[in-house]
Amino acid sequence: METKQFHFQLAPTSCQTMVRQLFAKYELDCANAGITYTLDMAKSEDEEMLLTVDTDRIEQVYANIIYNAIKFSAKGGFIHVHVDIKGDPRQLVIRVTDTGVGISEEDLPHIFERFYKVSKSRSTSGGSGLGLAIAKEIVQYHGGQIWAESRLGKGCSISFSLPVHRI
Ligand code: ADP
Repeated sequence: METKQFHFQLAPTSCQTMVRQLFAKYELDCANAGITYTLDMAKSEDEEMLLTVDTDRIEQVYANIIYNAIKFSAKGGFIHVHVDIKGDPRQLVIRVTDTGVGISEEDLPHIFERFYKVSKSRSTSGGSGLGLAIAKEIVQYHGGQIWAESRLGKGCSISFSLPVHRI
């Protein structure tokens, strides 16, 4: 599944609206997994800025990150979504932090590669190892970046950025 074969339907959308809708869609999944799921949107005078994105594709990116966060967290864990608009040129940055098993220093540089899966023993719920590679292609198509910060046993943060523009 190469990005080139995806059909992207770009449309202008408000940062606020997109983030709130994305967040709300996964509240039930987190609750069912016994995970506390919270959102904080940093206050900014840029709040009314727009993104020109394919919202279904961005949801695919967000869903993959959230489902991994759920999959690698234990009941009683936390998933925190932090949203900010920053930088020059302005970017929307969505950071999803979990309190799950984390990723080792050795594996961290590879998690966005196709078919990469961290130690087979951990991958009980049978992912394809493709989710984050596809997420990276989608984010890059939109002119953004995706990256991870983690330490084994210390949870994981996956962030992605998307360019924003004025109304
Ligand atoms: P899959 O589709 O198999 O879930 P991904 O491409 O989404 O694969 O992720 C690649 C690997 O990165 C996963 O197999 C997992 O080992 C690791 N990973 C991704 N997100 C997390 C996370 N939140 N916590 C711990 N490990 C993670």
